[in-house]
Amino acid sequence: MINKSLKELAQALGTKQISSVELSTLFLDRIERLNPEINAFVTVDREKSLKMAADADARIAAGTAGALTGIPIAQKDIFCAEGWRTTCGSKMLANFIAPYDATVIRKMHHEAGLVSLGKTNMDEFAMGSSNETSYFGAVKNPWDRERVPGGSSGGSAAAIAARLAPAATGTDTGGSIRQPAGLCNLTGLKPTYGVVSRYGMIAYASSLDQGGPMGASAEDCALLLNTMVGFDERDSTSLDRPVEDYTRGLEQPLAGLRIGLPKEFFGEGCDAGVMAAVQGAIKEYEKLGATMVEISLPNSHLSVPAYYVIAPAEASSNLSRFDGVRYGYRAPEYGNLDDMYMKSRAQGFGGEVKRRILIGAYVLSHGYYDAYYLQAQRIRRLIANDFVAAFQSCDVILGPTSPTTAFKIGEKSADPVQMYLSDIYTIAVNLAGLPGMSLPCGFAGGLPVGMQLIGNYFDETRLLNVAHRYQQATDWHQRRPDGIA
Ligand code: GLN
Repeated sequence: MINKSLKELAQALGTKQISSVELSTLFLDRIERLNPEINAFVTVDREKSLKMAADADARIAAGTAGALTGIPIAQKDIFCAEGWRTTCGSKMLANFIAPYDATVIRKMHHEAGLVSLGKTNMDEFAMGSSNETSYFGAVKNPWDRERVPGGSSGGSAAAIAARLAPAATGTDTGGSIRQPAGLCNLTGLKPTYGVVSRYGMIAYASSLDQGGPMGASAEDCALLLNTMVGFDERDSTSLDRPVEDYTRGLEQPLAGLRIGLPKEFFGEGCDAGVMAAVQGAIKEYEKLGATMVEISLPNSHLSVPAYYVIAPAEASSNLSRFDGVRYGYRAPEYGNLDDMYMKSRAQGFGGEVKRRILIGAYVLSHGYYDAYYLQAQRIRRLIANDFVAAFQSCDVILGPTSPTTAFKIGEKSADPVQMYLSDIYTIAVNLAGLPGMSLPCGFAGGLPVGMQLIGNYFDETRLLNVAHRYQQATDWHQRRPDGIA
């Protein structure tokens, strides 16, 4: 059961081969046994999960089940879930019990009938690429426990890779679904900005944040995405579009597909082993009938610098709400109100979060706003225009997800710029608001390599199709780490 796809699990539940309570218990037992070592979950609540599973079993018995009713899933701890502790990886929210459901959670629990197994570890406020900034400690990559799983959705990635959950939610502001998926041999999708509601998803950089699915395959991601999308009047950037069934295009043949290869993604800066695996994927796509087109994204080298102005600027504003008054951590001892604010924030936030608040406040300040923030916004437009031009000559864009495989815990934590460069291929997608995916395409030095597929706006169906056909022709995504049984 633990290695089955979501479709197979749905079949097993539908034919009463197993109940949701039994299936959920199986995963909860694995979490109890393996999580102390992996640290993928920060909160597990067996009673709540089993109650949801019993409700799902009742729906299955009554014949009112949806496609995924009764299937267990892990939730990134950035999504508020009513009655569940929701920490966002921070001491600031270490004791925060969410009083309401994020829209994504509401849809998954109440409409789809999925069963949450718990909340997964993450970089503090989703700021990081290694899960090392979490207040709850580093997460270990199940492929090599001395290495990071990536971040910020590192707990979700490690949970699926160790088969503590069949699938999970993630969020992606600059690569946080795609990069951990790549480093843990998973498939993950960041949808077009505005497709998945951000209501109840704790805000990092609101113009970039987007929730999405993580799983073992494109098909699993398509099924999960179906439960997450839809217009939400409670998110002002939610898009009012007809809801699609993302599984409907999976089987389309790829003959005639034009795949763009950005020359900037195939130059120096990428490890040779990663490049070799990506080149292997290109060959496979040619066999499947696709043609390769060389394209250029001339401003892509500016994506990391522009992002590290825009994201901290938005973060400094979003995180101002954590003042120790309304909710969150409050310093135990203080003199006056100002002192209470200062001590609560000084004690409640970790180092990386403080760095970003400082940078953000600086680039927004009088005298620097034009030089930094406004300039970064102009670059953002140029980067988006590069993609508009590129999609004139191709249907999807392919390249590496990350320049390296999973690095050692501690290897980059002392050098923020090195850490920021792990997102060099993923960030432009968020700046442009486009959909992007990562999927397994081989191994280098025994560690998984992810390739990235970037689609035009609202082209999730095509991205999933392009990924699914590749996964029918290859078995990289079916490989599992040793020693997790
Ligand atoms: N690693 C990037 C950052 O630290 C992206 C994180 C994310 O997508 N949430 O901001």
